[in-house]
Amino acid sequence: MEEKLLEINGLRTYFFTKSGVAKAVDGVSFDMTQGETLGVVGESGCGKSVMSASIIRLLASKSGKIVDGTVTFNGTDVSKLSREELRKLRGSDVAMIFQDPMTTLDPVFKVSDQMIEMLQAHRNIDRKTAAKECIQALADVGIPDPHKRFDSYPFELSGGMCQRVAIAMAILARPKLIIADEPTTALDVTMQAQILKLLKELQEKYGTSILIITHNLGVVWQICDNVMVMYAGKVVEKANVRELYSNPKHPYTWGLMDSMPSLNDTPKEPLSTIDGIPPDLRLVGKGCNFRARCRYAKQCCEDTEPEMVEVCDGHFVACHFQSRTTNLVKGEENRNDG
Ligand code: SF4
Repeated sequence: MEEKLLEINGLRTYFFTKSGVAKAVDGVSFDMTQGETLGVVGESGCGKSVMSASIIRLLASKSGKIVDGTVTFNGTDVSKLSREELRKLRGSDVAMIFQDPMTTLDPVFKVSDQMIEMLQAHRNIDRKTAAKECIQALADVGIPDPHKRFDSYPFELSGGMCQRVAIAMAILARPKLIIADEPTTALDVTMQAQILKLLKELQEKYGTSILIITHNLGVVWQICDNVMVMYAGKVVEKANVRELYSNPKHPYTWGLMDSMPSLNDTPKEPLSTIDGIPPDLRLVGKGCNFRARCRYAKQCCEDTEPEMVEVCDGHFVACHFQSRTTNLVKGEENRNDG
């Protein structure tokens, strides 16, 4: 059996605001093995980024708290780590790549200072040796003339180049897991393809696991082994990529897939969208969170939260009408009792 690197069980991260409690992550469970690439997809505000930040307890706002659940990384309960142990975990074992490379790097410090500081924070290493390793990392991520870029300020580099620097920093300490939060969103399509290829190559070279957060199903298809669809703080479907793309089961996943532009789309034809907007996370409670936007909803969807069930080997769905024995068919009327 493959060894689990990351195990998340019943994770709940809530934000306590004056106007109520927003359930940003509400009972998320999944695991990852060493070397796996898992894609997490969903609309903005569905809890993907808060979930990934919760893994290393990196919640930016003081109002955000992990109220329940466990995160086990490499056999260690992350909630039990001291401040110092957490600092070691971040960067050494788990590295993050953020969405906007221009804000990831500090504009007033040279790339060299930022990379060396990062490396020395995690390893007892002198500046000269650190510089050598950093320049090698820049070369590894395909930066031309790495000595020159090493001596540059971030504003002297393009967005794609800055993201490569951020990736080089992420791999410097040879982490076991990289969390990449929308790593290609701020880049043009050519650069997106290059960055995805680079991540895949680095993963093959170092055996790193990658948790990639995205709203782009195309990114998942290109790089991931498995995929997890999130909606309003919950996981609604998970499977391996081939299975999910060939046999999607959740009505929200159907909507996401229909929203993907295709080369077969007729010019001037409006792009397909999912009607409605995601629910206010302060108001979600009983029932299926997707019910207001779901054309297949019935009374039970108002009354009871659907459980995650395995509809076929390794393919899990949280919908009252999808199981091994019941089947909702896309585009057809829901004839199931409910
Ligand atoms: Fe739609 Fe009901 Fe299934 Fe939710 S449980 S996705 S509302 S049919």
